[in-house]
Amino acid sequence: MPEIKKLLIANRGEIALRIHRACHEMGIKTVAVHSTADADAMHVRLADEAICIGPPTAAESYLNIANIISAAEISGADAIHPGYGFLSENAKFAEIVEAHGLIFVGPKPEHIRTMGDKVEAKRTAGALGLPLVPGSDGALTDSAEAKRLARDIGYPVLIKAASGGGGRGMKVVPTEDEMDTLMAQAGSEAKAAFGDATVYMEKYLGNPRHIEFQVFGDGNGNAIHLGERDCSLQRRHQKVLEEAPSPIISAEERERMGGIVAKAMADMGYRGAGTIEFLWENGEFYFIEMNTRLQVEHPVTEAITGLDLVREQIRIAEGHPLTLRQEDVVFRGHAIECRINAEDPRTFAPSPGLVKQYHAPGGMHVRVDSGLYAGYKVPPYYDSMIAKLIVYGTTRQGALRRLRRALEEFVIEGMKTTIPLHQALLDDPEFQQGDYTIKWLEEWLARQQ
Ligand code: ADP
Repeated sequence: MPEIKKLLIANRGEIALRIHRACHEMGIKTVAVHSTADADAMHVRLADEAICIGPPTAAESYLNIANIISAAEISGADAIHPGYGFLSENAKFAEIVEAHGLIFVGPKPEHIRTMGDKVEAKRTAGALGLPLVPGSDGALTDSAEAKRLARDIGYPVLIKAASGGGGRGMKVVPTEDEMDTLMAQAGSEAKAAFGDATVYMEKYLGNPRHIEFQVFGDGNGNAIHLGERDCSLQRRHQKVLEEAPSPIISAEERERMGGIVAKAMADMGYRGAGTIEFLWENGEFYFIEMNTRLQVEHPVTEAITGLDLVREQIRIAEGHPLTLRQEDVVFRGHAIECRINAEDPRTFAPSPGLVKQYHAPGGMHVRVDSGLYAGYKVPPYYDSMIAKLIVYGTTRQGALRRLRRALEEFVIEGMKTTIPLHQALLDDPEFQQGDYTIKWLEEWLARQQ
């Protein structure tokens, strides 16, 4: 079995730190890569070695495959972990890593490719027995076909980009009259954003929740699920706060749906960590996509299962069997994660800058994943998320109380952050009841103005 001795982290920020920490606990040396804008970043400071891979723009640094591979060769790393975002779901990158005799800490490249194309992903998911949102069987060719199909499905329908991501290239079509225009718009937006104009159709669900299952496969036909996360609190399709378990999924439902996703992953021969995303409405699950990587919100699953997901990813990449059998997975308590962004909490305008004061909350069952420190300058080039606060409680109510206390303690001075937004959310009775869908946060925000 190949043992990883030195791992290159092809990412930045809190996730680079997260991976570094798992590696050091496993006795694995780390190599950080960074852009010129990140020379002072915490992941660079903590890693055993650091290599500059290019200028600030991601295209020239964190997405620069040639420079990252060179950094791995120069440093003598034997594995690469891509984190999330950047190259994490780039099948070509995974292939190149493997072609250089390095271990890719992630799924098999063919599975990244299949699931990265949403039309292919839906076809595969359907064949594996996952419930789908009613819609087109593959890509749409013209608007006449779209109209025929939409009549069967019933309006409103959603036109989505096959190569989509981040909620872009999606159009809700309310009636047949608007089909021609909106379908053309969706196609050209998709072409501009992803270089691929392919679109497909789904029934537009009016008021669903976003529920996703964490899965792990060993690549040899064994797979488990680690329960669900509720990520319904979204703004512009971006997750803001996540929790596990979902306030509305029963233990029986978790076992039934978890069983279905784990079997699908086993049948597929899936390797490593993955997330199967569903929309949930009126007791029904509808598959929307699969993410073939670690998610931002993975710590809530770690909190309720006790499993270190990055360690598990690395062990699987080394060829070890899964640490847990399904019957050994026990869900305990409740965990909530707040994504803290360097943004104005009302307008969401980015607010990068110098961290003048920094104090992270602590105490029992409080975790902060962040690369911030006093004197650090948040660069303007990347994602605005600067910290994740994760709390655990034996009950949801207990977790909410702990979250309130932890947010009170958190001090980040020098820039605007979304901490006040999370504090205001915690005061809302509907949120306290867990009574929210994917539309709820935007309506709530509109009411706060
Ligand atoms: P992306 O990859 O662009 O994030 P997803 O397919 O994951 O696209 O969808 C992102 C979000 O868009 C979902 O979390 C949900 O809020 C909304 N959405 C997607 N499909 C539908 C649908 N069929 N009906 C209603 N909302 C949807």
